[in-house]
Amino acid sequence: MRKLNKVRVDTEKKLIYAQGGALFGEVDSEAWKYGLATVGGIVHHTGIGGLSLGGGFGYLTSKHGLTVDNIMGATIVTADGEVRELSANKNEDLFWAIRGCGINFGVVYEFIFQAHEQKEIVAGFLAFPAEKLDSAVEASKAWLKNRGTDENITFVINRLPPENKPAITFILFSDDPSEQVFRKKFSLIYECGEPIFEKVERMPYPKLNMLLDESTDFGDRKAVLNAQIDYVNISSVREAYESFVNFTNENPEAAQTHIEIDLIDSKKIASIPSDSTAFHPRKQFYHVVIVQRWKTKECDKIVYDWSKSIQSIFNKDGDKSLYVNFVDTTTDQAYNNEEILKNVWGKNYERLKELKRKYDPNVFFRKGAVIFP
Ligand SMILES: Cc1cc2nc3c(=O)[nH]c(=O)nc-3n(C[C@H](O)[C@H](O)[C@H](O)COP(=O)(O)OP(=O)(O)OC[C@H]3O[C@@H](n4cnc5c(N)ncnc54)[C@H](O)[C@@H]3O)c2cc1C
Repeated sequence: MRKLNKVRVDTEKKLIYAQGGALFGEVDSEAWKYGLATVGGIVHHTGIGGLSLGGGFGYLTSKHGLTVDNIMGATIVTADGEVRELSANKNEDLFWAIRGCGINFGVVYEFIFQAHEQKEIVAGFLAFPAEKLDSAVEASKAWLKNRGTDENITFVINRLPPENKPAITFILFSDDPSEQVFRKKFSLIYECGEPIFEKVERMPYPKLNMLLDESTDFGDRKAVLNAQIDYVNISSVREAYESFVNFTNENPEAAQTHIEIDLIDSKKIASIPSDSTAFHPRKQFYHVVIVQRWKTKECDKIVYDWSKSIQSIFNKDGDKSLYVNFVDTTTDQAYNNEEILKNVWGKNYERLKELKRKYDPNVFFRKGAVIFP
């Protein structure tokens, strides 16, 4: 798919045509030439295929919804070898299914994304020593009360080099080119005290999705697991923090592991009914993403077990809904596991089974979280 990576922009209609093997960085840079952007992930070297077909969360989600909410059309090759055009009025059932469960239904040759006008932005990192955990959580919760859709906080429990001491790192994003506006939006966070690390700057939008290049570079062993929480519960964050410190002390090779809580505003996501796309959990929630990174095979099970224990801590604060692109497919846990599949697709699961029967009865597409007819 990688060679199918052409991206072109229709500036009049504000549409981006991107071939299915492109990376989001390629979409970002082509759209930016015209002062436009669409909702992609927060790491530019993520493929548009898997991310877009599962849901798609990024810095612009609070303002413009999920990636699937910005798919205006697609061309897909289904299991019978047919090439089908999909849109709101062409092959509507398949268009519904690919927006949240796409990898089960075919190979997308081309996506058409809605583009939005995009200015330069201000973003970066602000890190505090771990002793500030409680005040960092309190500040985040206070910020949530009056936050707008053009700003975002990702709250990260991690270890900071060179000494690898535990820290609380904020990834802050303001969808506005003014540094004063940024300082104002995040004044509550700045009030947490003296940061141990600060790197905030004004930048073109595509650079925003390169901020995490260092922590997401290639190499090592990696996995992600996720929980969706309805609210930020300080005791769960404390419990996860204690566990993170013990785990990384005992397993220094996993020191780059971290826990992110993405405080997206889900109003835009929730403004669309749960049955209008295959993507199901359309309500206010926050993603907890347990990003695991370690070095040796011997450590695999230790890491997986630990990350599941962190998922269990946060599952208490939500309804166990899962995001398909963060489902654990590393350990085959999701394979033919109805409970997990229902946690991903909720009430849409039965309709997806019917559509699988119609378009892929022999389960030709069987990677990741597979729907069986
Ligand atoms: C570093 C990193 C950062 C991430 N950040 C985010 C984020 O900010 N937001 C978010 O929502 N998710 C994020 N994710 C999760 C991401 O959505 C999933 O990992 C997703 O599967 C990536 O898609 P891909 O095409 O790059 O992966 P691949 O592994 O290439 O593909 C994943 C699956 O999709 C299928 N697929 C790929 N292209 C197509 C296509 N054109 N047609 C049909 N099927 C296709 C593949 O066959 C495979 O089954 C991140 C993941 C990583 C590793």
